[in-house]
Amino acid sequence: MMPFGYVRATDRADAVARAGSGTRFLGGGTNLVDLLRQNMEQASNLVDVSRLDGSIRESHGGGLLIDASVRNAALAAHPLVRRRYPVLTRALLAGASAQIRNMATVGGNILQRTRCLYFYDVDGARCNKRQPGAGCDAREGFNRYHAILGASDQCVATHPSDMCVALAMLDAVIHLSGPDGERSVPLADFHALPNATPQVETVLKQGELITGVELPPPSDAVTHSEYRKVRDRSSYAFALISVAGGLALADGRVTEVRIALGGVAAKPWRARRAETALVGRAPSRDAILAAIREELVDARPLSGNAFKIGLAERTVTAVLTDLAGARA
Ligand SMILES: Cc1cc2nc3c(=O)[nH]c(=O)nc-3n(C[C@H](O)[C@H](O)[C@H](O)COP(=O)(O)OP(=O)(O)OC[C@H]3O[C@@H](n4cnc5c(N)ncnc54)[C@H](O)[C@@H]3O)c2cc1C
Repeated sequence: MMPFGYVRATDRADAVARAGSGTRFLGGGTNLVDLLRQNMEQASNLVDVSRLDGSIRESHGGGLLIDASVRNAALAAHPLVRRRYPVLTRALLAGASAQIRNMATVGGNILQRTRCLYFYDVDGARCNKRQPGAGCDAREGFNRYHAILGASDQCVATHPSDMCVALAMLDAVIHLSGPDGERSVPLADFHALPNATPQVETVLKQGELITGVELPPPSDAVTHSEYRKVRDRSSYAFALISVAGGLALADGRVTEVRIALGGVAAKPWRARRAETALVGRAPSRDAILAAIREELVDARPLSGNAFKIGLAERTVTAVLTDLAGARA
């Protein structure tokens, strides 16, 4: 590991003021420190933002404002989150381990790097994300965990966060502060698909700090929501497929449905096409399956992950069927 300086920011303005080139913000360090240790990322200075004020409070509009330094465990346990946004609690608790959730922050979770094995194999594998132009060994390699939607010739890595799948389903907005001032970006637009530049993973600019996340007021489909994660081990494993789903019904027909998929792309995948197909329909298994198949029509599986298409179909169907059953 290369030596680096360390300073604890006193407040957000201090953090942004200290963010020069070579500086990295440090959250809980559960991803960044590993990457520094393996010389996959370099930093001359770390600005610790994990001890900045971190609260969860209601917004004026009836939504929720969550500071970026809030720990994953605290967010999952918060009574307003559990009651109004159950999908978020479930997604957080499906991630990592209790110890890691106690350390990991909201800001760091959003910016965690992919778990593609070839990305981490600094000495042995080609990776365009790590070294643009080098090639991608995952395409023809062990790609069981890789993308089926939105990938490119350059990169097939997935975004590993469970929390972000729930945030995508909730229409969360990310608040940022940087040298050019403050701005907000919908989570749906925050992470980038790889295209020809897989090294560009988000719309974050140099020196910008994630200050918080805002959740809109919960709709009926949000208060009746669920997160289901399918993985190789029942705990402490990243998603093969995950589904954040929410459903509202009136007179036996879908009035609102929300579906986001994890484990399928370089960003949480909001299944808008499937949602549109389901509104106004009775939520039968056949209708749900037909809707998710419309979403997955563009799926391009790799040699080792064609099973993800069927798995996504079955998981979405199971989640929405259960939600419909609970509401009947
Ligand atoms: C063994 C293991 C298993 C795991 N399993 C899962 C899992 O199943 N599901 C899952 O979702 N995650 C899982 N994780 C990942 C874990 O959730 C992330 O490591 C964690 O969320 C990162 O948060 P952090 O605060 O520690 O970020 P850090 O490691 O501190 O930072 C990560 C990145 O975010 C940047 N950053 C941090 N805060 C800010 C900010 N406020 N503004 C701008 N940039 C910032 C850092 O510079 C860095 O680039 C696992 C991790 C490990 C080690």
